Parts: sequence; structure tokens; C-alpha cells
Amino acid sequence: MKHDRSSEIFQRARRLIPGGVNSPVRAFRAVGMEPIVIARGAGSHVWDADGNQYIDYLGSWGPLLLGHCHPEVIDAVRAALDRGTSFGASTEQEVELAELIREAFPSMEKVRLVNSGTEATMSAIRVARGFTGRKIVVKFEGCYHGHVDALLVKAGSGVATLSLPDTAGIPEDVTRHTIALPFNDTDALRDAFERWGTEAACAIVEPVAGNMGCVPPAPGFLEELRRLTQQAAAVLIFDEVMTGFRLDYGGVQRLTGIVPDMTTLGKVIGGGLPVGAYGGRADIMAQVAPEGPVYQAGTLSGNPLGVAAGIAMLKVLGRDPGLYTRLDRLTGQLAGRLLEEAGRAGVRVTLNRRGSMFTVFFTPRPVTDYASAKTSDTAAFGAFFRAMLEAGVYLPPSQFEAAFVSTAHTDADVETTVRASRGAFQAVAHK
Ligand SMILES: *Cc1c(COP(=O)(O)O)cnc(C)c1O
Repeated sequence: MKHDRSSEIFQRARRLIPGGVNSPVRAFRAVGMEPIVIARGAGSHVWDADGNQYIDYLGSWGPLLLGHCHPEVIDAVRAALDRGTSFGASTEQEVELAELIREAFPSMEKVRLVNSGTEATMSAIRVARGFTGRKIVVKFEGCYHGHVDALLVKAGSGVATLSLPDTAGIPEDVTRHTIALPFNDTDALRDAFERWGTEAACAIVEPVAGNMGCVPPAPGFLEELRRLTQQAAAVLIFDEVMTGFRLDYGGVQRLTGIVPDMTTLGKVIGGGLPVGAYGGRADIMAQVAPEGPVYQAGTLSGNPLGVAAGIAMLKVLGRDPGLYTRLDRLTGQLAGRLLEEAGRAGVRVTLNRRGSMFTVFFTPRPVTDYASAKTSDTAAFGAFFRAMLEAGVYLPPSQFEAAFVSTAHTDADVETTVRASRGAFQAVAHK
């Protein structure tokens, strides 16, 4: 497989854009190669600048639950385009998207639209602090909530990949009120709330973690978090930017029945355009300006193109009751077959999966938190990734990310992927 054009474009990018990319993990550094440059996508496939074709399990890092260029999403954006790209004023469509979101997530009694997941979590935390008059934010190691200053403590995703314990450019004063606890550790949770509970403004969690690779919650963990936050009168924020509308139409909160006080959304709700949202209990959201004293604004918030894509996306998802079951079944088949191939090649892996999110960890240990995720052999993952890419399968270019299956993926895609993995696991075994 040739990557001459990709390489040429990337060299140009490197002269101008830091690391040649507009978001760090795109640089492929964790997998020891130059990135491929994408030219286009359709359904479950993408093509790079050299014309090579890949089955895409990146899905733009999660938003593309219907695959690339779903006709209804594309048509909705085209129609919106003809009406104008932005007004900085109220539109009927933004109300419709907010209504669709609230129907799916009844706990979001009031909803504010923003432009990214980062903006959603940043704003939710500000509102929680405004509402409670408290400072402390409780988060969990390996969970990533966007590049919010106060939350870049033991964060997953690109921060994990680059092994930055924290990041430069954030004064200690800013993270002084952030407490990072191990994910899935109910005892640590109880201790922390005993000590800081009454000072905690909020706890924020990925209810199924996706940014240290896929790590589901242990039985009882989210329940205990709900109980303790309630007892401490701290705001519980479910960061469902990744899981919302992906694992179920109503997110993890519908699957588990655990009701948070606030929720953040992004990714899928924009149908591939930049849209985020935060919302929650009406009394908490009454803090938000102009109703209340917590300021939060955005020139392009509720952007007509993003909102049109989001509405089209949610309508397709909402009218098909079998969709999530089918996605779960297809991803389950793929995961089972990948495990078989790893076993056949003698490579010991742990495969974590929830619905259409999965990660193959190159470790024999169960992966239940950040520390166990870190036991993965990232060099082995790199070898696996490169062999898969060469065979036409595009996975997220880091061990600490979830792969995504879309409704556009087919049984034939699964077959091709499994066949590719046979050689890739052998490449790892012979390394
Ligand atoms: C992707 C993600 C974010 C950040 O969203 P951006 O749109 O990249 O700012 C926040 N939280 C979670 C759980 C995510 O997966």
C-alpha cells in the first residue's frame, strides 16, 4: 500500500500546523507511523489521499453512528445550507433538536446547545459550581472530558497516549480543586466523599468509559456514586458525549436506570458536525444566563447546519427500534471472532465491549480502570494497528481509545476485518 500523497500532504501540514494535526492523536505517534490523510468517506469506508480504501472503525471518533454520508443527514444539511449558514439568533430547528434530546434523556429538563463536547463539560461544571457555591470537582482517572483546564488531571485519550501525567499551560491553582479517583473503586469513592463530600460541587464520570479504551462500570459503582453525590448534595454529571445515542437512544442512564443531575452530550448529536449540549434538572439549569448568574455563550451555538444534521441523525435513530440490538449483535460477532484469531495466534489480549464500542487491549489482565489499561503492551498494539491498516482496516491509532461500529458496517466488513486480523495478530506474535 502506497502512502506517497498522504506523506506529501502531511509534510506540508507539519510546516504550519503543530505536529501537522489539529488534534494530537491524529498524528499516529502512538503507533509509530505517519498518519494517512483522508480524502473521503461513504458508508463504512474511507479512502485516503492515495486512493487506498479502508473499513473505518474510527467513525470520526464516535459521531458517525450511521456511517459516512448517510443520505438523510446529507439531505438535511443541504436543505439547511440553502436557508443560510448562521444567524446568531433563535431558530425553530434548535428548539426541535432540544426537544428530541429531552425526549431521549428525560433527566435533561432544560438543555443548552454548544459547539463541542469540551464546551459542554466546561459549562456543566461551571453551572454545578454556581448552583452549589462549592469548588471541588471529583473526576475519575482515565476518563476524558475534553480539554477543559480543570479536568486535564489523569485524563485519558490523547493525554494517556502521549503519557503526559498532566499538561503544561495549566497553573496548579486551576486544578487544585480537582480530585481524581480510580475508576470502578467503590471504597476510594466512599473515602473521598467522607472527606470532601460537603465541599464537592460535582462528580463527573463517563458512565461507560471510552477514553482509556472501552472500560464498562463495575456492578454497583455508578449506583454508589449516585448515592454518595445525593447524600452530599453534590451534582452528578454523566458525561455521555461518547455514549449518548450510541449505546442506547437514551444513553447509559436509560440502560442502567441511574438518573444523573446533569448530562453532557456531543459527537452523535451533531451527526458529524460540531454540536454539543449540556442540560439537567430545571432548578440547576435555572442558574444559566440570562435566567441566572452563570454566564455561558456562543456565537455559533445552535448552528443551523449542525442542528439540521443532528435532527436528521436522531430521527433515523429514534424510529428504528431494532437498531441498537443489531449494532450490538454485529459488534459482538466481530469481537468474538477477533478473540478467536488472537487465541489462534497465541497473542494474549483482553477485549472490552459495550454495544458498538470495543477495545482490544494487549494485556492478559482484565482491564477495569486506568492502571490496568496501562498494563497493555502498546508496542504490540502499534504492530497490530499497522498490520490492520496495511490490510485495509482503519482502527483508532492508539491503544487507549474505543473502536466504533456503525449501522453501515456489514457482515462482509466483519469477515474482511477478521481475515485481516489473522495476519495482524501473527505479526504481533512474531514481533
Ligand atoms: C470526545 C469527548 C469529549 C470532548 O468532546 P470534543 O467534542 O472533542 O470537545 C468529552 N467527553 C467525552 C466522554 C468524550 O468522549
